[in-house]
Amino acid sequence: MAQYTPMIEQYLQVKQQAQDAFLFFRLGDFYELFFEDAIAASRELEITLTGRGGGGEERIPMCGVPYHAAEGYIQRLIEKGYKVAICEQLEDAATTKGMVRRDIVRVVTPGTIMDGKNIADKSNNYLVCVTTSGGMMSLSACDLSTGELYITSVPSSLEWLRDEINIYEPSEIIGDMGMLDSIRSLQLQGNRPVVYTPWDKKEERMVRSQFGEAAYARLDPERALCISVLISYLNETQRRSLGQLTQISPYEPGHFMILDPFTRRNLELVETVRERSKKGSLLWLLDKTETSMGARLLRRRIDKPLLHRSRIEERLEAVELLYNQLILREDLRLSLREIYDLERLVGRIAFGNANGRDLNALKLSLGQIPSLKALCAATPSLTLGKIARELDACEDLHDEINQAIIDEAPISVRDGGLIKPGYHEHLDELREASVNGKRWIAELEAQERVATGIKSLKIGFNKVFGYYIEITKSHIASVPEGRYERKQTLANAERYVTPELKEKEGLILEAQEKMVDLEYALFSELREKLSKQIPRLQSLAEKVAELDVYQSLAATSAEHGFVKPVLTEDYDFIIEGGRHPVVEAVMKESAFISNATNLSKESANILLITGPNMAGKSTYMRQVALISIMAQIGCFVPANKAEIPMVDRIFTRIGAADDLIGGQSTFMVEMADIQVMTEKATPRSLIIIDELGRGTSTSEGMAIAQAVIEYVHDEIGCKALVSTHFHELSHIEGSLKGLRNYSMAVQESGDKVHFLRKLIPGAAGSSYGVYCARLAGLPDSIIDRANTLLESLEHTTVTSEVAVAREVPATFDKTMATGIAEASETRVSSGVAPVTEEVNVTAEVTSSIT
Ligand code: ADP
Repeated sequence: MAQYTPMIEQYLQVKQQAQDAFLFFRLGDFYELFFEDAIAASRELEITLTGRGGGGEERIPMCGVPYHAAEGYIQRLIEKGYKVAICEQLEDAATTKGMVRRDIVRVVTPGTIMDGKNIADKSNNYLVCVTTSGGMMSLSACDLSTGELYITSVPSSLEWLRDEINIYEPSEIIGDMGMLDSIRSLQLQGNRPVVYTPWDKKEERMVRSQFGEAAYARLDPERALCISVLISYLNETQRRSLGQLTQISPYEPGHFMILDPFTRRNLELVETVRERSKKGSLLWLLDKTETSMGARLLRRRIDKPLLHRSRIEERLEAVELLYNQLILREDLRLSLREIYDLERLVGRIAFGNANGRDLNALKLSLGQIPSLKALCAATPSLTLGKIARELDACEDLHDEINQAIIDEAPISVRDGGLIKPGYHEHLDELREASVNGKRWIAELEAQERVATGIKSLKIGFNKVFGYYIEITKSHIASVPEGRYERKQTLANAERYVTPELKEKEGLILEAQEKMVDLEYALFSELREKLSKQIPRLQSLAEKVAELDVYQSLAATSAEHGFVKPVLTEDYDFIIEGGRHPVVEAVMKESAFISNATNLSKESANILLITGPNMAGKSTYMRQVALISIMAQIGCFVPANKAEIPMVDRIFTRIGAADDLIGGQSTFMVEMADIQVMTEKATPRSLIIIDELGRGTSTSEGMAIAQAVIEYVHDEIGCKALVSTHFHELSHIEGSLKGLRNYSMAVQESGDKVHFLRKLIPGAAGSSYGVYCARLAGLPDSIIDRANTLLESLEHTTVTSEVAVAREVPATFDKTMATGIAEASETRVSSGVAPVTEEVNVTAEVTSSIT
């Protein structure tokens, strides 16, 4: 066993606590890293790896960063998904005999950072904690930088967990080992790396003192447990008061529309599938917020569309008013634009790292509230009226900051120059003393010039010698004998002091030092005072965010000509002139062609849509889903008229982008999704399946597609849009009462196909696959051969149980996928394409297929 020096022994002890975090071990002006930490950190941070003797046989690998520059290095490690434990000296090395005590003062982790790049203005940074107890699964999510803390629970379900975690896109997840393993296997879709931290300690006592006994008592036991684990972890890592966590926000998953990760991705709600960028997503289109908290709230609303009609209507009422009042909207926007990120300012106040500029930012923000209040109060809107009543301008806090803090406050809070004159009597006295002292010195300079007759005599100051009288060498002869004491000799000048100058210097310096200390004390006192008002400021931030979201939705709706949806508790989903909001917004040359949707008991609840590739099928299906989501977050919708029932869940099986997830085959992914759908869909759900049945042989694909459609029709009874390239499937319209064939209209002229983008009743006649192949530039010989084969195939006799009308209701279950394998070779003659000229289309689109 190596015998280490006491310092290295101390390091090793602290390191044990730090576990998997890099230990930044304070030694004087540096944070040093040793052993494995040093090797890894020098690589990650590209800093020099050195070594030092530590008593053992070999030199100990070591690297370090200066303490004043540590912040940047810590951020870099966090961004790479590491944790950093900061170990400080707890005693003054100068006055301590022997080893200075050292301990960890904070552990910085990706889920608990307060600053840095991961804390993007417009997004949240969540730490998620998952626990199970009593057959329930609970999830809490906390953003320490904004003070949000949510808790929810359901009877154990990994699928639910996947959906819910995916919404938060956490940067760190804590839970027991078993839970973390399960979560890892869920294949989360997040954009940033997730750090998994095993943690199962709990701190009930802390939860009670943090949020109050009453709040604790209101929590179900399983939720209380989950919060206790979370708080215990925050306590362990932060090791300071968590003043920004003032309330727990519990919610019931059943109050929101359920959107699984694939659906959210496929519909490009917050980011696009390909670039994973916000630009091009629904969030991007709707986001005209002016404040960061508004932007974050909008995203949360898109993440969780509501199911309560009356609550959505409250939102729509505000949006409608702002939609109609351009000037009011503009006035609100101007005011909102001046408001800083209140939630994060509050976070910094609680954390104790807010500086003078932060307080001024808070002051300026508070200064905007009276005008926001007045603007809202003057409207007839009930929702805005309520906000106006609840907006608390916190004038007392505004005035307090205004009286205390200099307008152009410095970044540092420890160097003085940040408290206004007139705020504190003693500070003013000290200032006066210092100013007087300086005046006295200026006067002394003038007097001495006269007394000595040396015009170039001057009084200067430096940190080492303090104040001095400087006389150039050429005038040394005129220096009064005995009165001046020589202090320093320079190349061409001598510096002197006098006893009275020294005395005055003492007074000035003392006053200055006291001033700086007092300013810091006054500032800390004010910050402390503000930290007692955090709940007020947080609730203000919430109201401002809400207002910002309303104006944002109203502005987008007005700009794009959306209409207010009529929400119903009924079944029917009826849209006239519906459009895809994002595709429409990015189209440059041609106009977007609107389409109606009628999914109703009367007409049909399932639309089977055929039509060639590029005809616009998936755009249409997505637009229906987006309209329902937009309506349920309380936004106007891209249509001429819309009657929207409350949809409890949207399932989508769309597109090729998710085909390779987890290395599963397209077909297996599709079957797994459909299995979930059969289990979870209710009559109030909306199902969207694009290209049902691809990924396996034609006959199997068709057989499964038909069985699935029949199951949705007979067993679930929800609304569904299904597209398929098996135009042969259109025959099932004959046997399913609630299903209608539709197709995307195309117009053929010569060997060209025009896509009319219009949804018309009836099935498409052909899928134009060979036509597409030609457009793609395949050789003529291949195209000719394909046409010949197609003709002969189309003459093949049809004999299959898939093709015949149903006798018994089919039921789809998990075994169907394999059981159906026996289905015989099938080819059904296609329906006749409707005549496209009859369709009233506003624009004609010709697309080339690439
Ligand atoms: P499909 O699913 O039938 O292959 P898409 O829905 O992907 O076709 O549509 C192909 C392209 O056609 C889209 O990228 C879009 O640019 C354009 N498009 C689709 N629907 C419309 C429409 N209603 N009006 C105008 N252009 C449209």
